[in-house]
Amino acid sequence: MTKKMDFDQARERVDELVTLLDQYSHQYYVLDQPTIPDEEYDRLYRELVELEETYPTLVKNDSPTQRVGGSLLEGFEKVEHDTPMLSLDNAFSKEELIDFDRRVSQLIERPCTYHCELKIDGLAVSLKYEKGKFKQAVTRGDGSVGENVTVNVKAIRSIPLTLKEPVTLETRGEIYMPKSSFVALNQKREEQGEAVFANPRNAAAGTIRNLDPKVTASRNLSVFLYSLAQLDDKEIESQSEALQLLDDLGLKTNPERRVFESIDAVWAFVEEYQEKRTTLPYEIDGIVIKVNELDNQEKAGYTVKAPRWAIAYKFPAEEAETLLRSVEWTVGRTGVVTPTAIMDPVQLAGTTVQRASLHNVDLMKAKDIRLKDTVVVRKAGDIIPEVVKVNKDKRPEDSQPYAYPTHCPACQSELMHLDDEVALRCMNPSCSAQAKEKLTHFVSRNAMNIDGLGERIVAQLYDQSLVKDSADLYYLEKEQLLTLDKIADKSADNMLSAIERSKENSLERLVFGLGIRHVGAKAARLLAEEFITMEQLRKAPKEAIEAIEGLGETVAESIQAFFELEEVDRLIQKLKEASVNMEYKGKRKEEIEQVSSYFSGKTVVITGKLEHYTRDELEQKLTDLGAKVTGSVSKNTDYLIAGEDAGSKLTKAQDLEVPVLTEQQVLEEIDE
Ligand code: NAD
Repeated sequence: MTKKMDFDQARERVDELVTLLDQYSHQYYVLDQPTIPDEEYDRLYRELVELEETYPTLVKNDSPTQRVGGSLLEGFEKVEHDTPMLSLDNAFSKEELIDFDRRVSQLIERPCTYHCELKIDGLAVSLKYEKGKFKQAVTRGDGSVGENVTVNVKAIRSIPLTLKEPVTLETRGEIYMPKSSFVALNQKREEQGEAVFANPRNAAAGTIRNLDPKVTASRNLSVFLYSLAQLDDKEIESQSEALQLLDDLGLKTNPERRVFESIDAVWAFVEEYQEKRTTLPYEIDGIVIKVNELDNQEKAGYTVKAPRWAIAYKFPAEEAETLLRSVEWTVGRTGVVTPTAIMDPVQLAGTTVQRASLHNVDLMKAKDIRLKDTVVVRKAGDIIPEVVKVNKDKRPEDSQPYAYPTHCPACQSELMHLDDEVALRCMNPSCSAQAKEKLTHFVSRNAMNIDGLGERIVAQLYDQSLVKDSADLYYLEKEQLLTLDKIADKSADNMLSAIERSKENSLERLVFGLGIRHVGAKAARLLAEEFITMEQLRKAPKEAIEAIEGLGETVAESIQAFFELEEVDRLIQKLKEASVNMEYKGKRKEEIEQVSSYFSGKTVVITGKLEHYTRDELEQKLTDLGAKVTGSVSKNTDYLIAGEDAGSKLTKAQDLEVPVLTEQQVLEEIDE
């Protein structure tokens, strides 16, 4: 198609493409909020490459094909890289991989092998260690100069501050956000009326390039290192040896990697991981294929933008088109009203999808989503389906702009669109939908854990005016429960005893259950551990809360604002009168330090499905017994606790000869 253009047309199109790609890159790299899908960006980029190949005089110095990444953010110190941090050339088909193999053979003129790695969808970072001590972390930036993000990177637990040997080195890798953390983060942001991240990559980048290190600390980022750029006096001959050495030094690498002798075998690996991709706990967007031998790499050399000895095969996006039938608006615990698309069922990445998040009113408006539109859906982070865009070619002629709700679907009060928010919000403090959501949260498993009181029962209790706030639960009587739909004698008794039992819960469950903004289960636990009683937490000065590692100003302010409310005062009084425990019952910090157990001072990793405990419960138990529970296996790990279907962590532990315990063995040790 490009060949048919005459020179003037080509020049015009090149100008247009450079402007467009620059604009998209700015949104993607600088603002961490892309406005078009990656595939669309890649398509425009390829069009530009083809035009530049046909008309080499049209290649501008500042063309996106001639430089890496985007511009740098204000607020961070700029650091020049010792050697440039480059991008990778892309391949989108088997044929393009075969072409790559042919190019490589011509360049190096001798046999080579290929090291295949997963292409982690995060952001590239360079880490420097001096005499074994972590010194500096810098983003890729524009390839030559990056941003100094050392303070934020220190908050990532899988990055060791001390190596196992006192070596001086530079290593590079990808910082990423696990899928589960991405889903939880977006859910929280949605509830709070904040803009959601488009994908785990943008979430990770936005987190690392945040000026407040506490934000990084709270978001569970991790890292996979994939290159060793400099190392004093160690002989390394290949990429596989380099990664093994990183492992040996206690640096985290991705275990899913293999060396192959032919491009056909490489292709089989690509196909294998295209299948496995959805089951991995982190997002990958392709496979990186690298010439394994370092002398061969050197012979192949570099272009201005990428090494000639490597290529990134990009997986096709898993998207599907379907018809939007209606939009459901639901009111969350904090009053944020979120839209969900209800669509004709469609197959997507192995499941049938009928509902998809539309996130918030601003995004819906930006995409101009209307009823009866044909929409493109995809799974963000491979998990939550979302509507990417409308296929406007298929829009019916009589289509009308969507009529956004003006009133709360539950309490009919007027909805607000606050200036700094992207969502609609119901401001009515006695909105029934919010109250039901708050109650459902209060009884949920990680909060007061009241069995048998699901969403349906809670809604009935509320609608029949038997329970208006969480304290009312403790004043319920059996006769009242028996008036509920499908509740017989036995289940009423069970509910009452579950309610009764919950009075004994340790303080952190109650604190979490109260649903204080920005206070999740983990923060609640830290607060309870620190302040021991509700009374002391209530009186805690802001500085004392901020001083707790892992919490910060936002949490502290939110807690203070919460306890200043009169209705909170009344609620807590009512809970007290019902004899709900207001004290922390877990191990005190001083006690944990003194515990002597099988797990004292040990670094433990938990993997696989557990039978007796939830992950959180076991983590808590082990922490109480003096263990440090971490997320990934390294030589520093003392035990791996492997439940059923344990995957790569088990393999890694076996490789590193880390002792593996079954859940049963752990139970026995805990009993002792
Ligand atoms: P890239 O993401 O295509 O590949 C290079 C990067 O891969 C490296 O810098 C590194 O960070 C990463 N990587 C992950 N695992 C790796 C491994 N095992 N070994 C080596 N590197 C590994 O290139 P890029 O320059 O970072 O980004 C370009 C891509 O970003 C485009 O192809 C496009 O998909 C996307 N983009 C999208 C928009 C948008 O608006 N949607 C805008 C700009 C760029």
